[in-house]
Amino acid sequence: MSEQSKKNSYEELQKLRHSAAHLLAHALSELYPDTKLTLGPPTPDGFFYDCLPTKNFKLEDLPKIEEKMHEIAARDLPLTHKQISKDEARKIYADNKYKLELINGIAADTVGLATQGSFNDLCKGGHVESTGQIKFFKLTAISGSYWRADKNNDALQRISGTAFLTEEDMLADERRRAELDMYDHRRLGKQLDYFSFHGEGAGFPFFHPKGKIVLNELRKYMRSILQEAHYKEIETPIMLSDELWRNSGHYDFYKENMYFSLIDEKSYAIKPMNCPGSILLYKERPRSYRELPLRLMEFGKVHRHELSGVLHGLFRVRAFTIDDTHIYCTIDQIEAEIMTNIGIITKVMKKYGLDTIKIVLSTRPAKAMGSDEMWEKAISGLKNALEKAHLKYEVAHGDGAFYGPKIGFEFIDSMGRGWGCGTIQLDFFQPENFDLKYVSSDGSLQRPVMLHQAIYGSLERFFGAILEHYKGHLPFWLSPVQARILTISQEQRPGAQELFTFLKSKNVRVEVDTSNDTLAAQIKNAQMDKIPWMLILGKKEISEGTVTIRYANGKQDIGVSQDKLITKINELIAE
Ligand SMILES: [Zn+2]
Ligand SMILES: [Zn+2]
Repeated sequence: MSEQSKKNSYEELQKLRHSAAHLLAHALSELYPDTKLTLGPPTPDGFFYDCLPTKNFKLEDLPKIEEKMHEIAARDLPLTHKQISKDEARKIYADNKYKLELINGIAADTVGLATQGSFNDLCKGGHVESTGQIKFFKLTAISGSYWRADKNNDALQRISGTAFLTEEDMLADERRRAELDMYDHRRLGKQLDYFSFHGEGAGFPFFHPKGKIVLNELRKYMRSILQEAHYKEIETPIMLSDELWRNSGHYDFYKENMYFSLIDEKSYAIKPMNCPGSILLYKERPRSYRELPLRLMEFGKVHRHELSGVLHGLFRVRAFTIDDTHIYCTIDQIEAEIMTNIGIITKVMKKYGLDTIKIVLSTRPAKAMGSDEMWEKAISGLKNALEKAHLKYEVAHGDGAFYGPKIGFEFIDSMGRGWGCGTIQLDFFQPENFDLKYVSSDGSLQRPVMLHQAIYGSLERFFGAILEHYKGHLPFWLSPVQARILTISQEQRPGAQELFTFLKSKNVRVEVDTSNDTLAAQIKNAQMDKIPWMLILGKKEISEGTVTIRYANGKQDIGVSQDKLITKINELIAE
């Protein structure tokens, strides 16, 4: 499809979805006349309408509403649009304070009104010609929302749906949704016994033995990569006094998301970020230029209060671990540090089969601290690093934080979804704020620059993301159970035990199927558990001292010797 026709069909689709939102509102007005309709825009995935209903809508109500939408669509009502005076509009919406607020908020003298049959809606225009053109649509969800997305305003209900130009498009979308649902990490996490959530701690994940192995492997790999790049690992406390958070500025800007507690009658906060702890450690003694760049890394567990409505499996939790590095360096060292960072981020994501799709450099905003010279030097350092790494990037002019520019990375997964992880944030503020210094080569005291870097970001979120990305089939090195030994009959059990002991001694995560199931059933179970390798032992294998490897994709290697098995395993782990 050409760029132009892609654009045209996107516009057509948005028109359709906009019209479908009117259709939904029309259906609501006929079924539940006292419902207060507010706003209903098209979205990249479909459309929604927010309303204040007289009854609490539930999922069971959707088919009835959908049926009404089809009925109105079949009336094939022409859609017309005209400008009317605000007074006229106020008369139409005299009993709807939301619509009145919208009308009063419009600067022009007139407002747009869309009409289909006896139903009117405020609207800027851009519809299909008649309701009959809205054929392929579906209502998908009911959720809570707030008037104008402000939680201090009235709580509303949002009905969401999706609409397509063709039936094929709608079916393809249904398949995609089914796939996303099937590989939802919350479902996989339960099925594979990796993690769970409990009402006693909403948003605080519990990792089961198998899930903890995965988390540990994620850490181990990151640790090895960072040690190679001369990062030093530290650990700072979970709780620190309020005073620190007031000094760092988090208290003022982030108080709502922080948890507090008293210790010896003094108020403490559980850390929502790791930076202040790292800074205290830096300040613990005088630092020399010889120590710079000082790269202090920590798997820092942070707690942040998120609203219960936004919690979502491992993607949005209230406690998570960041692979958080703070680099203290001179402004001239920035470029080299960024070069290293970029190298690490791209290497790590490649390891997980995630391709980079977008790199964004955010530059100085209108309101910023620090001198022009500092900003110019820093930004040219970031640019040079990106260019030397031959990476394409976008510049988000003025999008940086007031305290420094930033590079953000986005990756694409196997289901075509983008994931923002990997950020490098420069910080001129905290070194100033905490009066950080180092002794330069001429003996004078100088101010270092600080760099915040996270590669996975939240380990928990990253775990959830790759679990979906791999559709539950984690690669060999990451799998909590790498191999399961299956036997054709009880006779091979002693042999299975020997192989188990041998592989254990080679640090392979292995288990034996001790059920009395048939081989076919054992294979099926191993597949359900998404175990990368099944090691099958029969009479022939035992007498030859070999094993048959059956891979998760169904392929087999027959007659593999123990030596060869270990070589293969080591190759896989080294990959
Ligand atoms: Zn409209
Ligand atoms: Zn930080």
